[in-house]
Amino acid sequence: MSEAIVLDSIPFCLDAAGLAAGIHLPEEDAELRQAWEALVRNVTKLARPKAIYRDCTVDAVSDDIVVVEGVPLKSRVLAGQIGERRRLFAYCVTCGTETAVLEDSLDALGRFWLEELRLNLLRQAIAYLHKEIRRRYRIPRLAGMAPGSGDAEVWPLTEQPKLFTQLLDNKVTAAIGVVLTESLLMLPYKSSSGVLFAAEHNFATCQLCHRTNCPNRRAPFDSGLWRQNGMDGMR
Ligand code: SF4
Repeated sequence: MSEAIVLDSIPFCLDAAGLAAGIHLPEEDAELRQAWEALVRNVTKLARPKAIYRDCTVDAVSDDIVVVEGVPLKSRVLAGQIGERRRLFAYCVTCGTETAVLEDSLDALGRFWLEELRLNLLRQAIAYLHKEIRRRYRIPRLAGMAPGSGDAEVWPLTEQPKLFTQLLDNKVTAAIGVVLTESLLMLPYKSSSGVLFAAEHNFATCQLCHRTNCPNRRAPFDSGLWRQNGMDGMR
């Protein structure tokens, strides 16, 4: 069994001017703009996005189960994506807990901004994790899946504890500060956990998600892929 690898010095850059457009900051309001820039400076000083991942061996794949080092992951879609592959990477990545100290001094708008900055930190950390795994294991293209991402039946959220307690060896909280609550929520909220694997084609669970108006959608719904994965009988 391989050791989990922790990335705790993930580089990031928060561009106050560039991100201001995303939060619809009015250009003419100098006071708001100063408050925003001060928050970006404080977050930049404090934040430490992090990740933990582990190189895992796939033991077997059936129609709807992928067995990874003795742990059965129940997802027909994941089984289809893994196919003949015998390796995947379990991971958890987070914006980090360090910016929590800012919360008490912020009003509702400030807290909204803080969440937006944390989301951006999470995205940068995810991109760094992908880059790191591609470089280290010489994998040209990665795709990923996360429990609870896409329609509920794609890979149920109830599978999440298997990642934390088994595939990541109960090390997530001690290594990067992410806690999985009894209701399967990750704290800090801007955290993500799942598996990555070598892929020949781009794939995102958004392709198997019926949710409309999602601001984070990365790919349109794909009815062909939905049918190909035998999902019709599951709704
Ligand atoms: S469309 Fe939105 S909710 Fe659905 S999987 Fe993509 S990001 Fe998640």
